[in-house]
Amino acid sequence: MSTLTEPALTGAWELPDELVALRDTVRRFMQAEVHPLEATLPHDAAGLPRDLLLPLQAKARNLGLWALQTPEEYGGAGLSVLGQAVVLEEASRCRMGAFFPALGAFGGNPPVVLYGASKEQWARFGQPVLDGTTTKPYTAISEPTGGSDPARAIQLKAVRDGDHFVLNGAKMWTSHAADADFGIVYARTGEGRDGISAFIVEKDTPGLTINRIDVMASFSPYELHFDEARVPVANLIGEEGQGFGQASSTLVTGRILYAAGPIGIAQRALEMACSWAKDREVFGGRLADKQGIQWMLVDSEVELRAARLLMYQAAWNADLGKDVRVDASVAKMYGTEAAFRVVDRCIQIHGALGLADELPLERWFRDLRVKRLGEGATEVQRVVIARDLLK
Ligand SMILES: Cc1cc2nc3c(=O)[nH]c(=O)nc-3n(C[C@H](O)[C@H](O)[C@H](O)COP(=O)(O)OP(=O)(O)OC[C@H]3O[C@@H](n4cnc5c(N)ncnc54)[C@H](O)[C@@H]3O)c2cc1C
Repeated sequence: MSTLTEPALTGAWELPDELVALRDTVRRFMQAEVHPLEATLPHDAAGLPRDLLLPLQAKARNLGLWALQTPEEYGGAGLSVLGQAVVLEEASRCRMGAFFPALGAFGGNPPVVLYGASKEQWARFGQPVLDGTTTKPYTAISEPTGGSDPARAIQLKAVRDGDHFVLNGAKMWTSHAADADFGIVYARTGEGRDGISAFIVEKDTPGLTINRIDVMASFSPYELHFDEARVPVANLIGEEGQGFGQASSTLVTGRILYAAGPIGIAQRALEMACSWAKDREVFGGRLADKQGIQWMLVDSEVELRAARLLMYQAAWNADLGKDVRVDASVAKMYGTEAAFRVVDRCIQIHGALGLADELPLERWFRDLRVKRLGEGATEVQRVVIARDLLK
């Protein structure tokens, strides 16, 4: 796997051979192992039950598909950003979409903030994620006061009391919180940006309650209430006040990779729409022969090509060590918005069947709607791009 850390698209905008081989391995694995399994699951299944996940993980591990995002020095495969994008894109071409890779099918990747954790914290919390013996941790930044501007919106208070911090306040919209054995929670220990700290919060923390929030997506995020919740000082990551910097350092690469799932999903939707248009008869001919339908397919193809190249370019530049803050915003914004438009058109081409839960299209439509808000909403990406344009 070490050669995969080499960045690079070749001059002709082709993936390097080892990434083509990796993509083909993921494709074969998805077709042989995941697609048949998914057919047995409920329409909105957001992940696999442990008795199905563990054997699948063992097969993935045998193929070398394990902890791909985690750097080699922390025990992972240390895939390049471009390699990660390729794997996530390919593995999201399934009914579960981006949930499938995100929830640990290819091994857990510890939250990046744990790379700065102490040896004890890594052994207790990071390593079990890597080994696949604990569930995927959540990350709680957003609060009832907002998610776009966390430096101001984070109000959850953490006050030192002996060898504990006492937490009071709430987090909102935290994905997977109820299923996780622990999460990374950002709380206020002082004023301004330098007054935010990152804590490892364990599931059974006294004073912590977790309530589900129903939203239009195929999964539910959660609200976390902290009422005099006592978190050991040993669970503070790094120093007090370093939380904002820790969170920001993971943001840029995260935005590039966030586009990969939607692009993979939309590609699969487009393939389904092409196939349906060739089979369906209307007004005495094939749907595929109607120019109005062809144009929807063509617009989708062009937008997807553009989205993919923007994402690959951002990933490639990240691997070269360039400043990719703007590239990442362009890739995230265009990728998620284009994927949403593509799936919408593909539903239209399928007619009523596009809305039925027999097909994954309506589920993808709901999940892609969320992607336009998560990891920095479209407007937040526009702020980043505008700031650069107008500086
Ligand atoms: C299903 C789901 C799962 C989520 N999972 C997580 C999670 O695991 N962890 C977590 O911390 N958060 C999570 N979130 C929260 C998500 O990150 C926030 O919803 C997002 O950051 C936006 O914050 P907000 O909803 O508070 O909107 P606000 O910040 O209140 O913004 C409202 C609107 O204003 C726009 N806006 C903001 N600033 C500007 C500006 N300068 N100019 C123009 N428009 C602007 C925003 O884009 C948005 O459209 C999740 C959300 C959902 C729906």
